[in-house]
Amino acid sequence: MSYKDQRRFNVDRKTQVIAIINQKGGVGKSTTAINLSAALSENKRKVLLVDFDPQGNATSGYGIDKETIDSDIYDVLINESPIEDAICDTCEKNVFIVPATVELSGAEIELVNEENRESKLKEIIDQVKDEFDYVFIDCPPSLGILSIDAFMAADSVIIPIQCEYYALEGVTKLMESIKMVKENLNPDLEIFGVLMTMYDSRTTLSKQVVEEVRKCFGNKVFKTMIPRSVKVAEAPSYGLPITQYARITKGSLAYMRLAKEVTRRG
Ligand code: ATP
Ligand code: MG
Repeated sequence: MSYKDQRRFNVDRKTQVIAIINQKGGVGKSTTAINLSAALSENKRKVLLVDFDPQGNATSGYGIDKETIDSDIYDVLINESPIEDAICDTCEKNVFIVPATVELSGAEIELVNEENRESKLKEIIDQVKDEFDYVFIDCPPSLGILSIDAFMAADSVIIPIQCEYYALEGVTKLMESIKMVKENLNPDLEIFGVLMTMYDSRTTLSKQVVEEVRKCFGNKVFKTMIPRSVKVAEAPSYGLPITQYARITKGSLAYMRLAKEVTRRG
């Protein structure tokens, strides 16, 4: 049954709106948005994934054909299309997605002169969030207006950090942005967790990076680390989360462990 056809109920738990953000490209934001949503869905959590990146990687990673989308996040944001019309079903029973296409790249410019530009996404998400346990916002690799909107709409952020040289490069800038947002726009914004991605247990580099990040973020760093895995990288080309594409693999099991850790945190 499609989202529009079903009777919709509010969930019992308090909804967590979480932006998955790091302005550094290719650190595993979209991969985490897709696979954490799927793993939470298996824990009977209902998830709305808002693709807020013009690259639309979360959208295609769930096998949604961008050519067939009636309404996307751009239409909701700029053309005042109802959010309900943009919510798509996915191959996961409890995961719904608001897709994005390259059209969204125009939104940054179109929002420049809007008075309430920082709160547009928040207003949209607030209309439906009570129906979901988690709302994830997959952010673009930049700290422009779209990311500010995501910071405003979110209760907290998950920061994926890739286990590689210069892992913390840019994180200082990200923390400064979060501080600025807390001071001026959203005082309640918190760090939900920091996630180490593409971890390779065979290298000392990975271990060193984790140590360095733990020094910086302490127990905000999730115990679960996502290993580097070819299967994880392949899954989006089949339009499936790793939990469906290759269930009993280290990448899939890691995302399932992460989901448990996330539910324990709130
Ligand atoms: P962008 O900043 O461009 O939005 P991103 O932060 O969303 O990127 P992803 O698209 O999730 O990052 O991942 C970047 C690349 O790394 C992709 O090709 C993805 O398949 C691959 N990748 C992500 N996680 C893993 C992993 N655990 N093991 C192997 N490859 C991975
Ligand atoms: Mg991405």
